[in-house]
Amino acid sequence: MNPFIDNILTDSCQRRVNYLRISVTDRCNLRCRYCAPLIPKQIRKNELLTFEEMYRVVETAVACGITKVRLTGGEPLCRRGVIDFIRRLRDLPELTDISMTSNGTMVAAHAARLKEAGLNRINISLDTLDRDKFRWLTGADRFSEVWEGIEAASESGFDPVKINTVVMKGFNDDEIEQMAGLAVRFPFHVRFIEYMPIGIDPSDARSSFLPVSEVEAKIRRLGKLTPVSGPAASGPAVQYRIGEGKGEVGLIGSMSSHFCSSCNRLRLTATGYLRPCLLSDDQVNVIKPIRRGITDSEIKALILETLSKKGKEHLLSFTGGPSLQSCMGSIGG
Ligand code: SAM
Repeated sequence: MNPFIDNILTDSCQRRVNYLRISVTDRCNLRCRYCAPLIPKQIRKNELLTFEEMYRVVETAVACGITKVRLTGGEPLCRRGVIDFIRRLRDLPELTDISMTSNGTMVAAHAARLKEAGLNRINISLDTLDRDKFRWLTGADRFSEVWEGIEAASESGFDPVKINTVVMKGFNDDEIEQMAGLAVRFPFHVRFIEYMPIGIDPSDARSSFLPVSEVEAKIRRLGKLTPVSGPAASGPAVQYRIGEGKGEVGLIGSMSSHFCSSCNRLRLTATGYLRPCLLSDDQVNVIKPIRRGITDSEIKALILETLSKKGKEHLLSFTGGPSLQSCMGSIGG
């Protein structure tokens, strides 16, 4: 009998928390200029949670009321064993949604196995349709592999495949209509995400920032935008269909319009910290206590401690405000 199964995680702002995002590795095979840390930290293997340790946290979190898990990173497919981990998660009956955010470079090779293992949904990051710009941004000539990954995910039955695009003034703002056009031609969901000043030079983020309101204005030129009230899985995105398009576009205004009031997330970092928010450095160490041999009840207490640290809203801004010490890859974007 599971002692926590009747629990529902509700924080002090009465937000129901049912979603855990896990950075399964800090490693990535791309070096995206806006994401990679300025000074990469060398993390030893034994500083990372093992899948066994991650599973203990997830199992307890699920018993507390978590029903959705997203695997991210770093690049989750860079960590050997991740597909077996998904297969294991699938056997937790209360876990109704297992998803992954990937850079797409290795998806073509693994899409069918990911589907078969029980992955429900996949988001693939792609910021440009121009091969040269892709190489400049990521440091790797792998645009074609990402596109093949998107196609393979779709062919393997992921529906919709979501494409995450971080909008950067002067880099890809001239491609917004073209990217949105993918959601007309294909049954994909293209999600435009505001550039956040995290792990990068804040002045660069400020000068590259483009609010999603401007993205929306550009997309309107493509056709009538019909709001789509997506399933809860759409999360913070405001969703539209363009004309009779096959897919949808989503706008995620992480900076211009906080969606903190409906935030339902906790995070687990690759190095074993629980965090209440992507955009705050507050965290609770779970790796040390787990390695000391704590019980499931004690893991639950650490989850509740993390929940108690969940602020009303994030304080990150381009103009003053606290800056974030951690980079996206280690927290798990
Ligand atoms: N490697 C995987 C990938 O590329 O999707 C997962 C990790 S990556 C950190 C997750 C997401 O965070 C990506 O969609 C990426 O574009 C986004 N991201 C990283 N840095 C960001 C920033 N400064 N602002 C907004 N989004 C960012």
